[in-house]
Parts: sequence; C-alpha cells; structure tokens
Amino acid sequence: MYRILMFILSIGFCQNIIFTDFFTDNTLRFDYFHSGVADTERVSLDELRLEGAWPGSKTNLIDDMYLGLYRFEVVDLELDKVIYACAFASIFGEWQTTGEAADGVWRTFHESQRFPEPKQPFRLILKKHNLDGSYFTIYDTEHNPVSRFVNRSPLLNNNKVWRIFNNGLAEKKVDILILGEGYRKDDMKQFKKDAKHLISVMFDTEPFKSRKSDFNVWAIDVFSREIGISNPHQNIWKKSALDLRFNSFDSDRYVLTFANKNLREIAAQAPYDAMMIIFNDPKYGGGGIYNLWSTVSSLSSQADYVFVHEFGHSFASLADEYYTSDVAYQVSLPEYELNEPNVTALFDPENLKWKHLVEEGTPIPTPWGQNAYDSIAVVYQQKRQQMIADGVNVDKLESLFEELKQSTIPMLKSQKYYGKVGAFEGGGYLAKGLYRPEIDCIMFSRNRSEFCKVCSEAIEKMIDWYVK
Ligand SMILES: [Zn+2]
Repeated sequence: MYRILMFILSIGFCQNIIFTDFFTDNTLRFDYFHSGVADTERVSLDELRLEGAWPGSKTNLIDDMYLGLYRFEVVDLELDKVIYACAFASIFGEWQTTGEAADGVWRTFHESQRFPEPKQPFRLILKKHNLDGSYFTIYDTEHNPVSRFVNRSPLLNNNKVWRIFNNGLAEKKVDILILGEGYRKDDMKQFKKDAKHLISVMFDTEPFKSRKSDFNVWAIDVFSREIGISNPHQNIWKKSALDLRFNSFDSDRYVLTFANKNLREIAAQAPYDAMMIIFNDPKYGGGGIYNLWSTVSSLSSQADYVFVHEFGHSFASLADEYYTSDVAYQVSLPEYELNEPNVTALFDPENLKWKHLVEEGTPIPTPWGQNAYDSIAVVYQQKRQQMIADGVNVDKLESLFEELKQSTIPMLKSQKYYGKVGAFEGGGYLAKGLYRPEIDCIMFSRNRSEFCKVCSEAIEKMIDWYVK
C-alpha cells in the first residue's frame, strides 16, 4: 500500500511544477518577429521584456489542451524540463493561408508570448502543428534571465487602469482587459459606457453568466487623436492609438492591428490573461485569434453579438461554424481532424469528439434543411457583396442583417433536431465535409444569443484552466 502511494505521489510530483521553485513573481514577455511565405517561416528575437506581476495561474503551468496552430514552451536548461507551456494561434498563421502568402510575397508580423520570469537560465521553444497533429520546432534558443536581452526599463505609466468588476487575486481568476481604440480623450465617458455595456452582455450569456465570479474585468483608458479606425479599401486613414484597421487580409469586416509591440507596451500597465479591443466606429466588424485578442466595433448594431462571438475565438479557440460568408483564407477539406473543439471532419462518426453530449437516437450525421438555408443565405451574401462594392452606407448594410435574421430564424427553429447536439453538415467556412455540433450557435449565426452545448463546454474548460 505504502509503495503504491509513493508511486502515485512521485507521478504527481513529476507532473507538477512548484511555481516558486522555478519562477519569480514577475512576467517576462518574449517579443519576436515571425516572417515567411506560405510554406516557410522564420522566427527571430526582438527582446525579452520584463512586465509586472504574473497574472496567470501558478498551478496550471503546462497547457494540456493543445489547441491553436502553435505551442510555446519554456524549458529549464539545467533540468531539461518543460516548466511552462501554452498554446496559441497567430496573425502570421492566418496570413499563411492567404493568396498573398501562396504567391510567395514575404511578410513579417510582430508577436509576443508571456510567461512567468524563470529564476534560472532557460530555453524558449516555438512549435507548430503538422496537419496530423504532431509538432515541429520553428524556434529554440537559450536565454539567461540576467542577460542584456532582457529589457528591464520601467513600464509605461500614463494610462489610467480601472476595474469593471473584481472577484479576487489575478492568479486565481480569468483577467480580461478592455482597451478602447478610436476614442479621443473627450470620449472617455463613452468608452466607459461602451465597455460596461458590452461586458454586461457577455456576462448575461452562458456559460459566462454562471461563472462570473471566476473573472476580473479591467479597462484601460487609451486616447486616440481621432474618432474611428482606418479603412484602407476606402482610403480612410486614422491616427488611432492601437492602429486597428478594417479590410485585414482584404476581408471588409475583418479588423486587426499589426502594431503588436505598441499594444503590448500599453497593455502591460494592467494585469491580463485575455485582451478585448473595442473600437469607436459605426461600421460592422471585428476579429478574434486564439490566445491573442479580440476586436469589435462598439457602435455597430451587431456589437453585442460580435463581442461575444469574437471572444469565443480568442478565449476558447472556437472555430467559426458558419460557411456562407466570404473569408480571406484559402480553405480546403482537411486530411486530418481539426483541433478546434466545435467543428469536425467526421472521419470517425462512431467516435465523434463531442459524442458524450449527443442524445441517444440522434443520427450522425444529423439531417437539417441545409438546401433551404443555403438558398436564403447565399442570396443574402451576394446582396451584401454588391452593397459593399457599391459603397452603400452602414445603415443599409445593417438592415440587411435584420432581413436575414427574420427569414432564417423560423426556418432553423422548425428543424427536427434544433437545439439538439449532433453533427450538422456545414461549418468552418465549408458547406460540405465539415460538421458543427448544433443547428444554431453564436459561432454559426447572428440569430442566437447562446453558445451551443459543445462551445459552452469548451469555454468552461478554459475558465477552469485559469482558475483551478
Ligand atoms: Zn457552437
């Protein structure tokens, strides 16, 4: 009995990293440049940057979910042991699937990974998923915490950080940081109102509603010189603080910033596990990348919906379940199962990855009125594209959203398996060959204000990661 107990204890010891044995209380940020074309990538060091207190978990230090396209590992040099690991997706990884990258045009994006500051020399490793789920290493270098490459200069201290709500120590909570973009100094009242409103919508949505006590929400006042953000296709250029812009990768509504270093220096003034950027612009748009950040236009009539949808991407690595909208990526049928929790290629229907949520008697794949839905949604997309090409005003585009809702909601709700978990064909930008868990979900359409059960479960798992 004693031997068995010792054996179990020793296994436990091997897997657990005692935080104080390896780390100081501070955060280090690994800043690097990620360059390449579709089939080649290079990573080069910018610097290591000392930030404030480590806001992440001090018990869950090695990611075991393996989501996203990339994995970041910190290895203790002397023990040759992984002491910290996280998974993430990146702008570079998305860009690699665009036509520009396929054409062989080299581009560079700045990226950062944050981790607790090691006490001893360490290696930093970046790995990328192969299609079959295995990894290959794209960066591996040794670092010394006392080297000249660690920038220990004082952090910015010129933006006011305030709480929307606080439930306890950062290391035991998911800390969300809201940043405002395209708000002038005179617009701070509006920023406060918008931030509080969008957060209240999110925490009225399950599973966030039931798990509210596991979160802290911070906001930071960031001043832009002008209202709104840039829109390169329309030749609108704004001097905004975080350099957010529409038309990322040539998708009209896709809003990203490529000024990562600037953003990180501003954000470092607050504790955060997840960033959400709300921008002061009436045009519909947003974006969300796993373990990076999400963006949403706070003035669009769809802001409430987009805010929650994009956080699904950035927080829990949820895939888009829709497939009728145009996207910038070159999408093809996967040869291997995808690692996002809420879409499947259904190579093995008997072992559907969310089968524990499927009620007995639900056929897999699950029938639904896809032809009827497509006939409405495809016409809508054509209309929308034409309106964007004609440069019609924002209000007209917004009323089109409403039209689509009115015609698709009754159709979807009348389906036999509405509200049930199954495997419904159409998802992840593909009408055929990829399947989603429910007929409707926040990740599928703007109709529904709830996540499907599979998405909810994935979000809860991620919350647990930060707080347990
Ligand atoms: Zn879903």
